[in-house]
Amino acid sequence: MVQVTLLGTGATKPLPNRALAALWLQVNGRGLLMDCGEGTQVSAQRFGASLYKLDTLLLTHYHGDHLFGLPGLLQSMAALGRTDPVTVAGPPGLDAVLDAIAALTGPLPFAIRRHTFAEGRGTLDLPGDAAITAFPAKHRVPCCSYLYTLPRAGRFDPERARALGIPMIHWRTLQSRRPAGGFTPDQVLGMARRGLRILYATDTEPTDELRRMARDVDLLCMDATYADDADTPKARQYGHATCGEAGALAAEAGVRRLWLTHYSAAVTDPDPGLAAARAHFPEAEAGYDGKTITLTFEDS
Ligand SMILES: [Zn+2]
Ligand SMILES: [Zn+2]
Repeated sequence: MVQVTLLGTGATKPLPNRALAALWLQVNGRGLLMDCGEGTQVSAQRFGASLYKLDTLLLTHYHGDHLFGLPGLLQSMAALGRTDPVTVAGPPGLDAVLDAIAALTGPLPFAIRRHTFAEGRGTLDLPGDAAITAFPAKHRVPCCSYLYTLPRAGRFDPERARALGIPMIHWRTLQSRRPAGGFTPDQVLGMARRGLRILYATDTEPTDELRRMARDVDLLCMDATYADDADTPKARQYGHATCGEAGALAAEAGVRRLWLTHYSAAVTDPDPGLAAARAHFPEAEAGYDGKTITLTFEDS
């Protein structure tokens, strides 16, 4: 299962009750953070996200509202006694950003492993079987959208395991899709079952690739900078989406859930934007700091 928590839902500048962009995923007690806007570490404490457990940090792009929380967050991790390495990944330009941040923080007691998605595209393996697929967003600067995938193995067949004479001591390993005792998982596992997929797409305009990548995802967390469809020209100018566009894309892609996020500071009431999104996708939900859900594998 994956616990997903919005730590910040604002754009450009923080508001008293709205931190800047950040999404926290927790799986098997380990944490992954997408974006790190100003105030992220405060939200993490407020909403129970343990920075000590953070292994991977993905930056969509290098606008300040997505990364100015990083130096403080890294220093807080150091203060917590963190010594395990942390992976920080993003589109090209990552080295210059991390060099600047290193100049601010000074030496840290843990290593930072850098991973640049060349041309904003690529995959990154995560602890366990999970992985990130990065693909280009359409924004004013190089920007990635991130698809988190947690696969699920096929059902274990004990009858087959017995028939093949596989000692029970190896069953658990084979169940977790690793070979054991000279046997391979495909000998005892059925077809792979539906896993979990979470797509984080901000800052971006709607694109055909985003629509394709969002197909049937469990959760789409999407740029909804502007509440009013009349602001569509502004959204094109600055490389963002309106709430209505987020709803339309969610409907076209057949997503299971849509959370609106990255609200313009001018949006103080989420309801009009939510209504615009629901005109296309009735299940749309307004993001807010601290909004959380635990996604579990469906039975089958
Ligand atoms: Zn932004
Ligand atoms: Zn931006």
